[in-house]
Amino acid sequence: MIPFNRPCWVGNEAELIAEAFAGQSIAGDGPFGKKTQALLEKQLGVKKALLTTSCTHALEMAAILLNLQPGDEVIVPSYGFVTTALAFFMHGAKPVFADIRPDTLNIDETKLAPLINNRTRAIVLIHYAGVGCEMDTIMEMAERHNLVIIEDNAHGLYGKYKGKYLGTFGALATQSFHETKNITCGEGGALLINDPSYIERAEIIREKGTNRSLFFRGEVDKYTWIDKGSSYVMSDILAAFLYAQMTQKDEIQSKRKMIWEHYDQYLKDWATKNDVHLPTIAECCESAYHAFYLLMPSLNARTHFINYLKENGINAVFHYLPLHKSEMGCKLGGEQYHCPVTEDMSDRLVRLPFFNDISKKELTAVTEAIQKYIV
Ligand SMILES: *Cc1c(COP(=O)(O)O)cnc(C)c1O
Repeated sequence: MIPFNRPCWVGNEAELIAEAFAGQSIAGDGPFGKKTQALLEKQLGVKKALLTTSCTHALEMAAILLNLQPGDEVIVPSYGFVTTALAFFMHGAKPVFADIRPDTLNIDETKLAPLINNRTRAIVLIHYAGVGCEMDTIMEMAERHNLVIIEDNAHGLYGKYKGKYLGTFGALATQSFHETKNITCGEGGALLINDPSYIERAEIIREKGTNRSLFFRGEVDKYTWIDKGSSYVMSDILAAFLYAQMTQKDEIQSKRKMIWEHYDQYLKDWATKNDVHLPTIAECCESAYHAFYLLMPSLNARTHFINYLKENGINAVFHYLPLHKSEMGCKLGGEQYHCPVTEDMSDRLVRLPFFNDISKKELTAVTEAIQKYIV
């Protein structure tokens, strides 16, 4: 069976974990945590990167940083991960569900205006599959309405929009290092801070609501309870693993580009003949190559296609279910939102096996099986 995802090692993870053990400092913000944060800051050019226990927790930190008041609204894409909305709901926001563009499946910037009112505080974006949202329009809109932009950049690490890294546009951005992401440590994440006014409070929220970070830097003479927060710091064992992966990011990204291009090249003609659509990378974007997906002509066609691939030893999978129509989404009034593109794409999208060390043989097996299939 060719799996949809397989966790991949760069090779020296165990060695660096052993080094972390030997250093006898395996709690959070140890030597590897510090090195990994500095590396992320340097690679992306962000003011501050804070490693967290997950992307979900980084999103929660972003939500706490917003200081949400009862009645405040946060716009999220309905075609999104549960915690993209949940984190903001948990910390007091009413989620407002936006539809997506039919080409990139990113939040549709042309449909945001009617969703914005004087209770709107923030817009959360996902750069779906690693291709940037229409950032010029979105940033201009945020400026005009005084909204905070938060990039859920779980798919977009090292992708670019107009030459600038994804995750560097919003005041805040979040990364995931979950096993299914381009770069991983099993479970983990990061909060990227581009607006420096958030840095001090973010450090407090991440350290159980205490000013422990300031204390360790000698900026205060004792540490104490200051604010809301939780235990969001990543262990140094995981940071060691992550550091190994992150120092190989060019190799990882070029492998993923190769996988994406293989699918694109070998499936183009088949797709045209079978009324299937391949992913779009806008001219001004460099993809992070997080995923490769097909848009089948219908839900029924997708079901048959996934079953056919399964019979041929290939595990292909669908993706997000519309959040506004989920059980919780409905309880929060989600059904009042009109997101026809989300509903349609959610029915028709299928993702192909995509992981860093998928072999040429496996890739060829996937494309050959698909080429034989008539939709
Ligand atoms: C994976 C993912 C998350 C959650 O990441 P965790 O690190 O598992 O919390 C959030 N948003 C998006 C878009 C994701 O793909």
